[in-house]
Amino acid sequence: MSHTLKTLDYSVIQQCMHCGMCLPTCPTYDATKRERHSPRGRIALMRAVADGELEIGSTFADEMSYCLGCLACQTACPAGVNYAELFETARADIERSGVAEAPARSFWRALTLRFLFMRPDALRLAGGVLRLYQRTGLEGFARRSGLTRLLPRSLRRLEPQAPRIAAQFSNRLIREHEMPQVPERYRVALLTGCIQDLVFSDINRDTADVLLANGCRVHTAPEQPCCGSLHAHNGETALAARLARRLIDQFPPDHYDAIITNAGGCGSHLRHYSGLLEDDARYAERARLWDTKVKDVHEWLAEIGCRPPQVGPFDAPTRVTYHESCHLAHGQKITREPRALLRLLPGVSLVELPESNWCCGSAGVYAITQPDQADALLTRKTGHIVSTQATVVATANPGCHLQVARGLSAAGADVTVAHPVSLLARAYRRELLQRP
Ligand code: SF4
Ligand code: SF4
Repeated sequence: MSHTLKTLDYSVIQQCMHCGMCLPTCPTYDATKRERHSPRGRIALMRAVADGELEIGSTFADEMSYCLGCLACQTACPAGVNYAELFETARADIERSGVAEAPARSFWRALTLRFLFMRPDALRLAGGVLRLYQRTGLEGFARRSGLTRLLPRSLRRLEPQAPRIAAQFSNRLIREHEMPQVPERYRVALLTGCIQDLVFSDINRDTADVLLANGCRVHTAPEQPCCGSLHAHNGETALAARLARRLIDQFPPDHYDAIITNAGGCGSHLRHYSGLLEDDARYAERARLWDTKVKDVHEWLAEIGCRPPQVGPFDAPTRVTYHESCHLAHGQKITREPRALLRLLPGVSLVELPESNWCCGSAGVYAITQPDQADALLTRKTGHIVSTQATVVATANPGCHLQVARGLSAAGADVTVAHPVSLLARAYRRELLQRP
């Protein structure tokens, strides 16, 4: 599918009835109180483009860039507006028009979206180089000598918070096929992601352990392509479709009971491959089956009945709060399951986070493209987390994980960030240790 706003099914374009129910849930409208920064205002702009009343220009591009793509408006909308489809189509139109092009932007997009995130081997190589840079003292040297001042301003700002690359990637931590030690009930594929693989491969290992403990045979692949969500959200629909085909080839959906993802942002995109490949005669049917097999790990555990651990993940009673990934909560409507999983943990008291589903400002590359708004959202989120007096905040998306950890560290708050599944894996491990 590579629709434009003009060729998109008009029923999607005209679905908004202008009621304004979405306005209070929109972080950018909340920040400025301007109609054009609201979902309703943006949809009106998109409709004007579709009707040929508005040319795609820099104002339209800026507006779509300011939108977080958090999809809170989609949850609030009583008319069932498909904002995700509208937004991705608008961004693809902007890319096609070339209106947002600038040399530095084109360079970074070519390096990341068109090269690194299309080549898992190259991405891992880049990750390995960054790991060396971080661990050999080069990082300290570059900062002391002022070399980091050569970076573009937006990256220079973020450089001190660059994520620590994991000592080992997922292929070194998880074997291609792993069998459960308990009776096998299901056969699943585990998607290890890109950022999750480079930075949080331990969460992938934890996910495999939890699946095994619940009777799932786990198949993963040592090298997996990106799911394409970054591409789709940034207007590169054709590349997103190419990646979807590769992933379907690698994990044929009829081979598994479920295809598991532990990253909210990836999951939200992964379960819509049928729309992306609807015009591809060779893949359309498999893509439809694929969509039904993709499961967020919390959703899958709830579906199969997660075994409660007998022992908690911590030595002492612990307050834990939960920050919702936008694309898990609004994109996939998975809100109860992660909380239910946390409530299974002995010794953990789950404290509800105020505005738990309000975006933390991570939103893909938003912290680079809209740093001020990203920081404002992060400060708001960090304040709420601290107000709960929890010592652990659970969240299930690598972008949120990094962003929230950055905010807590800047605020000097002694709060650990963890994936819910990691807490469960930890409890299972402690349970094993305590067995006579
Ligand atoms: S996706 Fe988020 S930021 Fe964009 S219009 Fe909807 S609520 Fe507002
Ligand atoms: S809630 Fe839905 S129908 Fe109402 S203004 Fe927002 S997008 Fe339009």
